[in-house]
Amino acid sequence: MKKIGVLTSGGDSPGMNAAIRAVVRCGIEADMEVYGIHRGYEGLLDGEIHQLSRSSVGDILHRGGTMLKTARSDRFRTEEGQRHAVNMLDTFGIEGLVVIGGDGSLRGGCDLDRKGIKVMGLPGTIDNDLGYTDYTIGFDTAVTTVLDAVTKIRDTSSSHERTTVIEVMGRHCGDIALHAGLAGGAEAVLIPEIEINLNELCRKIVVGANRGKQHSIIIKAEGVSVSSQELVQTIEERTGRETRLVVLSYLQRGGSPTYRDRMLATLTGAKAVELLKEDSSSKAIGAVNGEIVAYDLQAALKQKREIDREMYDLIGVLSK
Ligand code: ATP
Repeated sequence: MKKIGVLTSGGDSPGMNAAIRAVVRCGIEADMEVYGIHRGYEGLLDGEIHQLSRSSVGDILHRGGTMLKTARSDRFRTEEGQRHAVNMLDTFGIEGLVVIGGDGSLRGGCDLDRKGIKVMGLPGTIDNDLGYTDYTIGFDTAVTTVLDAVTKIRDTSSSHERTTVIEVMGRHCGDIALHAGLAGGAEAVLIPEIEINLNELCRKIVVGANRGKQHSIIIKAEGVSVSSQELVQTIEERTGRETRLVVLSYLQRGGSPTYRDRMLATLTGAKAVELLKEDSSSKAIGAVNGEIVAYDLQAALKQKREIDREMYDLIGVLSK
């Protein structure tokens, strides 16, 4: 394989740049021409494709976001769009593609694979919602950002003896809430995978206050069935305690990637090039038990992400 492409797609995540850098520099080292495709699949359809050099990916390792920009593309979801994407890759002589993105982006990669393109999928999403890998690129940084916010909010919540609901990202997967909740000492964590029990939650806040707790921190993933505003109102009405809402939103997507995210991005990026060089079939690359793994792309995306129930229960025990 002589020419490969790399793109970032879906929501951006810290560490995407580190992955791009690894793909470009390892690719050039392996005597390949590496092409950067701007704005994900949308840019691929528009032919926004430029050859990258070693120096073009200098000074990006530590930066959040993605130098290739990212986008969502409805055109790419159609049969016509995908045929056009394959023709575009063919026009540039690109035989292998590294796709850095979440579940949707890697599913798009599966469609290209079915049309004869070798695709290496890297798990670039803060959500940690891919079943085949223990961690995704950006998750560790996002949790670190949430933890920083929790620590700061704890100070002011204590001073005012308040309950604070902190809404974090996670439409279908509660991993950010779960990990930040355990590491941040939250009173409760609300995630889409487990039905919310309002009575139990309010009782816990009241019992905690009775035994002298100065504040309650509730971390809620955005995908939970009750809206955050409704939740705050209900808690305040039922417990009689002042309750505030903090929505962290896009703050969680930014920032310099942590050590763990840089390592995961760099090692999976290098693995992607190694596999393309070997002319391997399409793979989803990730990390399991601390080792870099590469599974068949289509099969990997069928693996369901299970929530860590023990971690969830431990939060309940520690916050009694
Ligand atoms: P994140 O969840 O972190 O935002 P993602 O990769 O899951 O990342 P999506 O918006 O779901 O984000 O997907 C990004 C793009 O991938 C979509 O705009 C679309 O072009 C393509 N895509 C998504 N799902 C599919 C699918 N099932 N088949 C083909 N292409 C898809």
